[in-house]
Amino acid sequence: MEQESPLVREVFPELVDELVHLLEKEGERELAICVWDVRMIGECGCGDDFCQSIRTSDHPGGQPYGPGRRCVPLLPSSGDLILDVVYGRIMYIEILGRPPLRRPVQA
Ligand SMILES: [Zn+2]
Repeated sequence: MEQESPLVREVFPELVDELVHLLEKEGERELAICVWDVRMIGECGCGDDFCQSIRTSDHPGGQPYGPGRRCVPLLPSSGDLILDVVYGRIMYIEILGRPPLRRPVQA
């Protein structure tokens, strides 16, 4: 059995709180709801110091998403947060130039 990927909000609750807030501010109500349920499939893996992006779909990296793709840039207090959305599904969360993401303390 393949293990189910964790929810991003369980791994990085502060990040998801901020995304929900920023999406609501942009009037992206549906995405603000969707982001609550995205799963952390993997890290970007590019190795750049400024990049902490998260893959939230099993879309293979480095390939175009095809039609239906939409880029949703947000306005965080620091750095860049950009969502890659395909037909309303959040595929990728670009997290660039941000302070290190904090994970909640494990019990
Ligand atoms: Zn990266």
